[in-house]
Amino acid sequence: MRAAKRIVVKLGTGVLTSDKGELDRSRISGVCSQIATLRKLGTEVFVVSSGAVGLGMASLGLSKRPKEISKKQACASIGQSKLMQVWQEEFKHFGITVGQVLLTHDDLRVRSRYLGVQETLHQLISYQTIPIINENDTVSAAEIKFGDNDTLSAMVASLVEADHLIILSTAPGLIDMKGTGKIIPIIEKITAEIEAMAGGTTNERAVGGMTSKISAAKLATRAGCGVFIASGEEKNVLPRLLSGQGPGSFFVPSGIPLDAKKRWLAYFQRPTGTLTVHANAVGPLSDQGRSLLAVGITNSSGVFAEGDVVNIADHKGHVFARGTTHYSSNDMRLVMGKKENELKALFPKKKRLEVVHRNELALL
Ligand code: GLU
Repeated sequence: MRAAKRIVVKLGTGVLTSDKGELDRSRISGVCSQIATLRKLGTEVFVVSSGAVGLGMASLGLSKRPKEISKKQACASIGQSKLMQVWQEEFKHFGITVGQVLLTHDDLRVRSRYLGVQETLHQLISYQTIPIINENDTVSAAEIKFGDNDTLSAMVASLVEADHLIILSTAPGLIDMKGTGKIIPIIEKITAEIEAMAGGTTNERAVGGMTSKISAAKLATRAGCGVFIASGEEKNVLPRLLSGQGPGSFFVPSGIPLDAKKRWLAYFQRPTGTLTVHANAVGPLSDQGRSLLAVGITNSSGVFAEGDVVNIADHKGHVFARGTTHYSSNDMRLVMGKKENELKALFPKKKRLEVVHRNELALL
């Protein structure tokens, strides 16, 4: 395993808190000590920390995760400041300063904001601090939510181009439900069978579970990042994992990573529209890296503007790509199925006549 220059460590609520929902100071202190050691060895570390909602619940004496969004948001507001206080205090013992970064999905979906976040994270690292990242639960409502910190941590790993993403959870790794009943140590490829082994969570304070960890692993491995899922209860877990002797499961990074802009197109979007293409158009798009032309489109659904990212589906409805469209959903009605000379007559001022240029099209 190559030496890690940059890693993202994600800690779930179950790892950070006791059964009563209080923060487990000794575990957090242990993690800080491990991170301090890694830093001395020259590894840049980004932390994605859950726990805000759970801590807020404990402060308010709530034993069940509230269903109403405003109540969850209030819990997060109360818990987040407690969470940061503890990270700050524990890292201080090692002479390390931390920086709080709270994100909504929109902060990474909108290209200009995504680039801004990237710069800030790198700046925090060059100031020798540890960024402590969480979803901005207090303001994020359904449509701008990541939903779980596994997804957020994978997006951060992709954004900073980390060598490894380490997801520490109460689960010891991915269990082989179909075969041995033991942890699968190495996963070369995330197949449908692997995905079927995952389930959700039963922890009242947490969200996610193995399902979201596997989809996070899918995203991060495509960014060329190796992903560990291991128990946060294990002693000295971070150096052990990084030296290849740790417990848990390791997802092998994909051989040829998707480039940064295409990752953003493929995985950071929630498109509001879908273009369906003719069976004959699938090959040129997926195997030959061609642009999507109007003549190959058979259907357009949803509402979108010029410049939005849309899904591209095959004739069976399977979404196999995403890309930036040069036409709005209104224009698409005119555009679908047309040849280039017809489009020229319809849109004489348009510089780009293809619907999605190949540089702005990412295969999933
Ligand atoms: N952002 C949530 C929190 O801090 C946690 C989400 C998750 O654990 O995936 O409570």
